[in-house]
Amino acid sequence: MNMSELITMTGTFGHTEKMPVLFLGHGSPMNAIEENEFVAGWRTVGKTLPRPNAVLCVSAHWETKGTFVTAMQHPKTIHDFGGFPRELFAVEYPAPGSPELAREVITIVNNTDVALDERWGLDHGCWSVVSRLYPNADVPVIQMSLDYDLSPQAHYDLAKELSSLRTKGVLIVGSGNIVHNLGKLAWDKLDEPGFGYDWALEADAKIKRFIMADDHPSLINYRSQGTAFDLAIPTPDHYLPLLYTLALKDENERVIVFNDKAVAGSLTMTSLKIEKA
Ligand code: ZN
Repeated sequence: MNMSELITMTGTFGHTEKMPVLFLGHGSPMNAIEENEFVAGWRTVGKTLPRPNAVLCVSAHWETKGTFVTAMQHPKTIHDFGGFPRELFAVEYPAPGSPELAREVITIVNNTDVALDERWGLDHGCWSVVSRLYPNADVPVIQMSLDYDLSPQAHYDLAKELSSLRTKGVLIVGSGNIVHNLGKLAWDKLDEPGFGYDWALEADAKIKRFIMADDHPSLINYRSQGTAFDLAIPTPDHYLPLLYTLALKDENERVIVFNDKAVAGSLTMTSLKIEKA
């Protein structure tokens, strides 16, 4: 029997122990190549994870009309940023894709149409963090896009439909930032981790309280939470991956918060691991 026959018989994604779920505050693309406390935090948490069969990443940086999953065998590394050093543009993260997992997502999601994508690849929201968890690029990675037209509740409901992947050895990673307002970045404080504007710290603290209380409705209805939230979440892209991660939390699971720090006034790196209590 050859390998492909064996995979057809047993399924590439056979039953496993339930995988944890992550939300990673990715911050600057430079975190892909710099050494700092946030990178150390991702790496430390990465070492606590069972080795996954594959990673499914929901990145802030892939918004589309409709929902897509990358389905190519070899996703390209996308350098979707400007104004950074040449060495960052030289980074390649050659993790294989997983057309099998992409097809599995389409099979298990019923309330939203999900289509296969052959054009995207891995954007920096994905590779800047996943490369710090799996530097050898030896775990297959696919991305799922964020549909512009879905409401926060619809994103949350869609994420719930991914739940069965957790017992197939798939590590689901939401990659964004809980507080993310680049228009208000304090450029003179870039080298002082820990500096956050009052509204940024207020929103981050309130969001963490909602997370710890499992008050997901308040997080889904973030648009009615007042001025600090409006400033912290001026656009939904970096916040929605958080809803994907939280939607996958079971009642008997706990949330571990790490990298709990503001940077440059208007960003927070706050990251989460959800696991069995
Ligand atoms: Zn980003």
